[in-house]
Amino acid sequence: MKVLKFGGSSVASSENINKVISIVEKSSKKNKIAVVVSALGGITDLLLEAGNLACSGNKDYKKTFETIEEKHVQVVRELIPINNQSNVLGEIKKMLNKLENTLEGVFLVNELSNKTSDKIVSFGELFSSFIIANAMQCNNLDVILKNSQELIVTNNNFSNAAVLFSQTTSKIKEYFKQNNSKIVVLPGFVAKTENGEVSTLGRGGSDYTAAIIAAATNASILEIWTDVSGMYTANPKFVREAFPIPNISYQEAMELSHFGAKVLYPPTIQPVLKKEIPICIKNTFEPDAAGTLITQESSNKNPIKGISHIENMALITLEGSGMIGIPGISKRLFEALSLEKINISLITQASSEHSICFAISNNDTIKAKNAIDTEFSYEIEHAKIKPVIVEENNAIIALVGDNMKSHQGISGKMFSTLGKNNVNIRAIAQGASEKNISAVILHKDIKKALNTLHSEFFENQTKQLNLFVVGVGNVGGKLLEQIKQQQAYLLKNLRLQVRVIALTNSKKMIFNEDGIDLKDWKPALEKGTALNMDLFHQKVTDLNYRNSIFIDNTANENISKLYANYLKESVAVVTCNKISCSSNYTNYLNLKQLAREYNAPFLFETNVGAGLPIIDTLKNLIASGDKVNKIQAVLSGSLNFVFNNFNEENSFYNVVEQAGIQGYTEPDPRIDLSGVDVMRKILILARESGTILELNDIENDSFLPKASLAADTVPEFLKTLKLEAEHFNKIYKKAASNNCRLKFVAEFDKGKAKVGLQEIPADHPFYNLDGSDNIVLFFTDRYPIQPLIIKGAGAGADVTASGLFADIIRIGNN
Ligand code: ADP
Ligand code: ASP
Ligand code: MG
Repeated sequence: MKVLKFGGSSVASSENINKVISIVEKSSKKNKIAVVVSALGGITDLLLEAGNLACSGNKDYKKTFETIEEKHVQVVRELIPINNQSNVLGEIKKMLNKLENTLEGVFLVNELSNKTSDKIVSFGELFSSFIIANAMQCNNLDVILKNSQELIVTNNNFSNAAVLFSQTTSKIKEYFKQNNSKIVVLPGFVAKTENGEVSTLGRGGSDYTAAIIAAATNASILEIWTDVSGMYTANPKFVREAFPIPNISYQEAMELSHFGAKVLYPPTIQPVLKKEIPICIKNTFEPDAAGTLITQESSNKNPIKGISHIENMALITLEGSGMIGIPGISKRLFEALSLEKINISLITQASSEHSICFAISNNDTIKAKNAIDTEFSYEIEHAKIKPVIVEENNAIIALVGDNMKSHQGISGKMFSTLGKNNVNIRAIAQGASEKNISAVILHKDIKKALNTLHSEFFENQTKQLNLFVVGVGNVGGKLLEQIKQQQAYLLKNLRLQVRVIALTNSKKMIFNEDGIDLKDWKPALEKGTALNMDLFHQKVTDLNYRNSIFIDNTANENISKLYANYLKESVAVVTCNKISCSSNYTNYLNLKQLAREYNAPFLFETNVGAGLPIIDTLKNLIASGDKVNKIQAVLSGSLNFVFNNFNEENSFYNVVEQAGIQGYTEPDPRIDLSGVDVMRKILILARESGTILELNDIENDSFLPKASLAADTVPEFLKTLKLEAEHFNKIYKKAASNNCRLKFVAEFDKGKAKVGLQEIPADHPFYNLDGSDNIVLFFTDRYPIQPLIIKGAGAGADVTASGLFADIIRIGNN
């Protein structure tokens, strides 16, 4: 015989029930089968809701009752042919009347015991089994309905009753011995006590009913039909990359289900394990998928089979010097909890015995605190033990596998992976059997922790980088283009999956959790929602993806003020916006410290020299023990362009205008021409070299005439350049007569920085600096006379974007 169990979603509608019927029909061709069914999907919750409403005197219980009624009547109408409908509906109505009376009773007395609650919820499975058996009959299957309440006997622990196995097993055996029908349909979950009162086996208990029947009848297999294609490597609702485990041992399945893999109710394995009856988890909606086979030994030798988690856990800590070396403390503690029927999911105690820490369900915290405070009232009063500490909103995450014991380094990898992704671990436990390593983490980190561990232990070691891109102008647009072009290469060669999760321009924003299609981001952004940087931050935080990177492609001060908020959430920041790093030193330092504290890179290579690897080189010099003594540099691509093109024929005004058109200057050219942009750059290099410096400390010998410096607006400023042509020509001629070229030079020497226009002679490395190129000379302890020189294109959207991209990849390779 085979036992097939169909869960709530498998029987949630007439359409689904028809799928069940065809699976059963096929299966019953070769075997006798028992079919255990859950209540129609969602009905158990509605029944409990109706009970609770009635108990609290809320008349709305009637509405909930009506919803339950309608749902069943609708399924009967859709499933049972007209001429059989009235009989079936008649029976259903009779049962519904009983349910209604019970609910009314609860409403009148305002009381709902577990016993009465069991009576109410049991209707779910009674309805469903009755309807399904009748539907099968109408499909001409050889079927009989048997109420499992007549077979399964339990104790009086209503709502979570324990099965009395010897009576139960003999009743089941006896029944199936005399049964001649090919198919027996039975309600799951429901049972009766020895006194004949209705009891239930706990939420999810239909799996258990099926296992009890399978064990008693020595079935050849127990098939659990549900809405997923097996037991997955992690809950597929949280981890997209999770996949069904083909074969797993009873022990492993038990650990996974105890730690939250809801697909199998934990007690289910016990009855079949003794008889070594295999369990197969199958998908009602994809019956051809292989599913998961659970047997004594798994053929799959991967040391880790799955990752599971339990939500809504509280961490309870009992500590005090009075606990050290005193025998019996833990006995008293756990006895107090056991008397309250509180289930403990994880316990840790350090060898100092100064504290014991354990995890229980959030729902039990008040009961637990009261029980412990009462038990240890004497010790608490005499300050030997502190009042118990309760921390809610935690979760347990567990790695499971029979063969972990023969592999070293798994827990190390687990904790370092979580640590690297800033998942704070509150407590850990690993039994000597090493079938399970569990950690308590914060609820908000569940998704990140599951995905990180899944990718570490089950995926092809591809690292996902999740980008949140602010600004899609010149630089941002180029960056997206470059990412699109390189996505496949990075995946193949560096195992980096770069996904753009969010984009903004100055008006709109869009999010796509699967990654925005970079082929047509423009129309998608057009249709986005109004830009709101608070909401943007909220969304990034809620998604809580590992390897999240906030990318600032703007020159906007307000955006630069947001970096700290992201770093504090362990979101890396990559920016070409210079404002933060050149703001006051405290702010700069704070960002660097946050980056360290939250393990979130803060990279701004493009702040100096666009895509040239200037800051990275500087960092490497310093990290390897070198010391920067002097920096000389031409750091303004804009000014270099201007002074390379300005001569007697081409007026200063014209050149500045051209530079603007070609995108070599900032939108406000004053920032370049006043030297402020270069001041910011040398400030950043000085700071990165380890010097505390402010923008005001930098000497700026401006080449602009007074009128230009005084101009309030960009047009006014440009006008002064035209009017003051003679001022600029004089500067040019003087340099030319000295056989020199004009370069706007930044210098950092002996802790001091200055910027200004200089006449550069022909033998100097700056003399031949073309176009908008930049050059930096680092004089260090290791390069005292011949400096380390970095030279190349230092402005332009393309190279700036490639510098940002390099920072992104740096994070990926980290
Ligand atoms: P049924 O109603 O058929 O009994 P359940 O809702 O009890 O179904 O169990 C199936 C659900 O278990 C899946 O839809 C999935 O969301 C959840 N689940 C949690 N962890 C796992 C896992 N590791 N593998 C498969 N499913 C899991
Ligand atoms: N209907 C019950 C529940 O929802 C039992 C089950 O479906 O397994 O918990
Ligand atoms: Mg279930």
